[in-house]
Amino acid sequence: MTETVAVIGAGMAGLWTALALAPTGRKVTLLDRDPPPPPGDADEAFTGWAHRGVTHLRHSHAFLARLRGIIRDEHPALLEALNAAGCRELGLDGMLTDRHRKRWRPRPEDADLVVLTSRRTTMELVIRRYVEAMPNVEIRSEAFVEGLDASGEAPLKVTGVRLRGGETVAADLVVDASGRTSSAFDQLADLGVQIGETAEDAGILYFTRHYRLRPGQVEPPRGGAP
Ligand SMILES: Cc1cc2nc3c(=O)[nH]c(=O)nc-3n(C[C@H](O)[C@H](O)[C@H](O)COP(=O)(O)OP(=O)(O)OC[C@H]3O[C@@H](n4cnc5c(N)ncnc54)[C@H](O)[C@@H]3O)c2cc1C
Repeated sequence: MTETVAVIGAGMAGLWTALALAPTGRKVTLLDRDPPPPPGDADEAFTGWAHRGVTHLRHSHAFLARLRGIIRDEHPALLEALNAAGCRELGLDGMLTDRHRKRWRPRPEDADLVVLTSRRTTMELVIRRYVEAMPNVEIRSEAFVEGLDASGEAPLKVTGVRLRGGETVAADLVVDASGRTSSAFDQLADLGVQIGETAEDAGILYFTRHYRLRPGQVEPPRGGAP
């Protein structure tokens, strides 16, 4: 029998859950509280995507080398689509300052030390479209998960999720990928399961400013100030 998976949230963790599980033959349903991206390109997504569930949607993001390597090896068509949409691959060589370069002795494995970076909207848009086109995956937008369904007692078995409006989505496995606003601990507490949670402030404040090159202009050289 095909195992069904309900994923709360179609952000990064949700999309990557689908990328990992759908090829194994499981049927994956991603449920996201927000509307889908507007039709069109990365610029449309940046200006028009009402995706309030991801408060940092309009910041820049970078995937570190390990994840970029996984994309290259396991989903080469996705890497191609990300680059075609304007994401940038920045290798170690291109990121060294003049000072570092004086002592740097290149090694073959340096070729794998490449980060993939762009506006978050671009990355999420491209990954989402790639995931949507996979067999076994459905992304349901404007599907706000309000609670978990469960049966039995000790051990309690989660059997699905309840959406705002009353609909129940049954699943063999429920994955909470709803990010920093997750209600998983409260939802489990509603079912009588107490799990301790600790949280602390990261103490980091994050600003992003995006620049666009004017036609005919090229980027200033890297390598000056660290
Ligand atoms: C400013 C900033 C910059 C960052 N830069 C980087 C970076 O450069 N590289 C990097 O690797 N990481 C970066 N991160 C961290 C990265 O963004 C997070 O780790 C990542 O987004 C977490 O993924 P997630 O899927 O858990 O949550 P999210 O990506 O936030 O997705 C959660 C999803 O769940 C949905 N959702 C929430 N509640 C519900 C509900 N009740 N029902 C249905 N859907 C729901 C939301 O709409 C959303 O789509 C950055 C974070 C911040 C804040």
